[in-house]
Amino acid sequence: MQNVAELTKNIRQKDRRALSKAVTLIESTRLDHQNQAHSLLAELRKKPQTGLRIGLSGTPGVGKSTFIESFGMMLIEAGLSVAILAVDPSSSRSGGSILGDKTRMPRLSREPNAFIRPSPSRTTLGGVAAQTRNVAELCETAGFDVILIETVGVGQSETMVADMTDVFLLLLAPAGGDELQGVKRGIMERADIVVINKADGDLKAEATRTASEYASALHLMRHPTTCPEGYPRAMTISAIEASGISAVWEAIEELAKWRKETGVHDQMRAEQAQRRFRTAVEDRVMARLKADPAHRAVWAQMEAAISQGEITPDEAATRLLNKVFAGGGTGSIF
Ligand code: GDP
Repeated sequence: MQNVAELTKNIRQKDRRALSKAVTLIESTRLDHQNQAHSLLAELRKKPQTGLRIGLSGTPGVGKSTFIESFGMMLIEAGLSVAILAVDPSSSRSGGSILGDKTRMPRLSREPNAFIRPSPSRTTLGGVAAQTRNVAELCETAGFDVILIETVGVGQSETMVADMTDVFLLLLAPAGGDELQGVKRGIMERADIVVINKADGDLKAEATRTASEYASALHLMRHPTTCPEGYPRAMTISAIEASGISAVWEAIEELAKWRKETGVHDQMRAEQAQRRFRTAVEDRVMARLKADPAHRAVWAQMEAAISQGEITPDEAATRLLNKVFAGGGTGSIF
């Protein structure tokens, strides 16, 4: 493997091979790779990070690929560089990611200023979250202006992506009156901009109506501490006709500028990093418990006792942790 200094230099020039190599290190489960990835990120972080991280969520078929292609090309034509990452929790089940596939964004995938990376296919969402966050950081330190992280609306993946981005977009299709209820409230609350796609042809009127319904709903969810007047916002676009795309970018830029000027941006990133720290500790504690034979034995003992009704789960957890933190051995803890 190249040394960290050389890899850092090549990554800063957005060298594709160097980027891919770094992503491989980040996504590897091997301890030596993980350590290399950590030193690499530490080295890269010495330069300030100025990229904008945008989250994009939408169910399959809503037009994410079409939107990313239009949006990404617009940014490239404006002289910006774009990294596109994907989080698809279903990809580990299906054995292959539907997101990030280069054939979905044929024009972007040919652009030297675009870097497209499919979803990592770890089995746990925690693993995918950690990897994607690190790859986003890698792309940002490499100097990409925009890092777009897309996800399908499955399980916790939207919350996860909202938790690693600066501005979060929810992409929806025009739909009948009861559609509003179909969107999980939790994710509506995280959306900074709700984008109703397919506002063209026969669907145009429906899209406009859907957008105004969302605008009223979003108005009630306004978070004055993290959004200026006018946000969260609902907008209509046609990704296929590339109409309304620049208005979406303007809205993103306006919101991002406000957040930077008011200190909200730094505060959001700090809080995100703190939450990540907490889950990283949780993940590692669990991993170490499971890896250590003595603790694993106690764990099994506790599970058996819980099944027999001899102990409550809470009491078992307390005893297990007392044992761990006391540095105890393998003896009985009853
Ligand atoms: P994804 O699964 O969310 O990535 O969605 P795609 O981008 O693959 O689009 C799904 C389908 O919707 C495709 O048949 C697209 O051609 C169509 N589509 C995407 N954007 C638009 C749009 O702006 N207007 C219309 N009418 N169809 C669109």
